[in-house]
Amino acid sequence: MSATIIDGKAFAATVREKVAGHVARLKEEHGITPGLAVVLVGEDPASQVYVRSKNKATKEAGMLGVEYRLDADAPQDELLRLIEDLNTNPEIHGILVQLPLPGHLNEDLVINAIDPAKDVDGFHISNVGLLGTGQKSMVPCTPLGCLMMLRDHHGSLSGMNAVVIGRSNIVGKPMAQLLLGDSCTVTIAHSRTKDLPEVVRRADIVVAAVGRPEMVTGDWIKPGATVIDVGINRIDAPEKGEGKTRLVGDCDFDSCAAVAGAITPVPGGVGPMTIACLLANTVTACCRANGLAEPE
Ligand code: NDP
Repeated sequence: MSATIIDGKAFAATVREKVAGHVARLKEEHGITPGLAVVLVGEDPASQVYVRSKNKATKEAGMLGVEYRLDADAPQDELLRLIEDLNTNPEIHGILVQLPLPGHLNEDLVINAIDPAKDVDGFHISNVGLLGTGQKSMVPCTPLGCLMMLRDHHGSLSGMNAVVIGRSNIVGKPMAQLLLGDSCTVTIAHSRTKDLPEVVRRADIVVAAVGRPEMVTGDWIKPGATVIDVGINRIDAPEKGEGKTRLVGDCDFDSCAAVAGAITPVPGGVGPMTIACLLANTVTACCRANGLAEPE
């Protein structure tokens, strides 16, 4: 292996420490505690894990963390009423509705019901528009975490060729906007892209957000490129015992690491940064709501 491992877990710990420092100052100097409400509808096992770890991290940073759980068949009106209550609750500065929602709920309608100023996931149409036009917005946590790691590793990204694999609203598209904002030449690839390996081979930066275990292999990677693996895929791991599973990314770690200059592992790469950025966004939202200087 030749690549530098980008340690998202360690980086996230430094971000969380900074966030905790801001939270302590907000409490001491202004008597304000940033508050994050996380809403979970239904009992999707992966979503339950995410919500639990987000709530735990919120409390560890000294913030108010409140969890709301609705039944899988909760009517849309009930969810919209809860969001409206949270929009007007002065103790809550950030609202996150865990996706995906059960099929009977209209995800766009629900996300756009959140006050954009409290939309710490950055999925509200206003925040999407602000990001796309280079204005101050709430930036989606996963792409923001990826950008922070890339900036930390490279300094300037200006002029680099970046290929984002995946065009979802929550990862691929905002990631591409952020890389464009940092003056990369950006290609967005997806399931209809022709000759994907050849497209990826041109990239100085590869961001894989596909949801297909170990799809990207070392022979797709330009020597020395930086690989950011967003994918979280659970696969069978018979080597660990019967019925056991393990997490892998969208990139085949060993073969990519043999060629890349730097790579994020799964787990321990993008995942921890996503949660750290959620906490940072909540503090930012709290500062904006109170007319205070935002953390850098
Ligand atoms: P989506 O399913 O919404 O999007 C997947 C994208 O991958 C789509 O744009 C799709 O293309 C594209 N795609 C699918 N198959 C191929 C293929 N064979 N070749 C090229 N492109 C393909 O996923 P998300 O963006 O929500 O998530 C992507 C991954 O990131 C998942 O593994 C998810 O678990 C993980 N994730 C991790 C987070 C973290 O904190 N680390 C946070 C969020 C997600 P098309 O549009 O044409 O269908």
